[in-house]
Amino acid sequence: MSTRLEIQDLTHSYGGDRPALSGLTLSVEPGELVALLGPSGCGKTTALKIIAGLLSPTAGDVRIGGRSVLNVPPEQREAAMVFQKSLLFPHMTVESNVGFGLRMRGTPRGEMRERVERALRRVHMGGFATRKPAALSGGQQQRVALARALVTEPRLLLLDEPLSALDANLREGMRGLIKEVQREGKHTTVFVTHDQEEAVILADRIALVTDGHLRMYDRPEAFYDRPLNREIAEFFGAANFLHGQARNGTVETPLGALKLAIPATSGEVTLTIRPEAVRLEGGENSFSARVREATYLGTQVLYGLEASGGVALKAALPPHTRLTVGDDVLVRLPAESLWALGR
Ligand code: ATP
Repeated sequence: MSTRLEIQDLTHSYGGDRPALSGLTLSVEPGELVALLGPSGCGKTTALKIIAGLLSPTAGDVRIGGRSVLNVPPEQREAAMVFQKSLLFPHMTVESNVGFGLRMRGTPRGEMRERVERALRRVHMGGFATRKPAALSGGQQQRVALARALVTEPRLLLLDEPLSALDANLREGMRGLIKEVQREGKHTTVFVTHDQEEAVILADRIALVTDGHLRMYDRPEAFYDRPLNREIAEFFGAANFLHGQARNGTVETPLGALKLAIPATSGEVTLTIRPEAVRLEGGENSFSARVREATYLGTQVLYGLEASGGVALKAALPPHTRLTVGDDVLVRLPAESLWALGR
């Protein structure tokens, strides 16, 4: 079931000197998966609790399907949450755990059994209905928690770091499963995480939040290709920054005049380029540099380069590129990969 979620100017203060959330505004389209990404303490869980109705905001509004839900109690918001820990009832079987919400609503027995079975099948746990949580692995428990959320056919799926307690390989499988059930059920989903890679893999759009403020809201690739500012670029692992003066469509830098596919507005600018976009060749925007460092990373080699004027750059190149420290090379920064950051 798909619905639009709108968060408008959401502010929340727990009474400390700085609010946990400040004027958060974003809209999640029906069936979209949005990752609320940010470092620990930035206000992600606070936002999720307000959407779920577990916390009242100091100011602002939450609208589900076009209607304000601030006065709607949590159980009537049709939002299901999955937490970092599965929080299953230990004395109940998997089947009873998953059916708990339906039982509370007085769902007839036959229908309940059918829906529980279907939810367990969706998370590939069909054969585990009679087990107790203690007889399941951590990953299996999280799948049951996901089934428990899905069984009520919620309009909104709210996931609070559901993968962070799992081992790396289990996390990968669970990521795939979340994406699969979310797409299949077209659930409008908010996924809270501090893990940038997880957000990129899972999300249709990422909302980057730091210190309670929304810093950027866009598709994952925009955080790599067109970050708004240096803080965002660094959060997404950008390593190359180059100062310059923009005029007449080019940017004067210590490496010479560089062309950008999207010209920067005149004045002082900071350019960035991803290490994997740097080329070893001549042509437009090229200059000579010396290899100062080479780190073999298996799927690529990360080179530390030093160009004229002591300008340092990182270049990530395929593993078959055999350069050695001290080699002189021609380096090109393709115009379409250079991006001028906002100030
Ligand atoms: P994490 O990833 O560590 O869970 P988060 O981004 O989800 O962090 P929140 O839990 O939303 O962050 O907390 C945001 C801020 O509000 C933090 O500074 C936190 O210390 C504070 N905070 C959270 N809950 C409370 C509370 N019940 N009382 C007072 N302060 C709180």
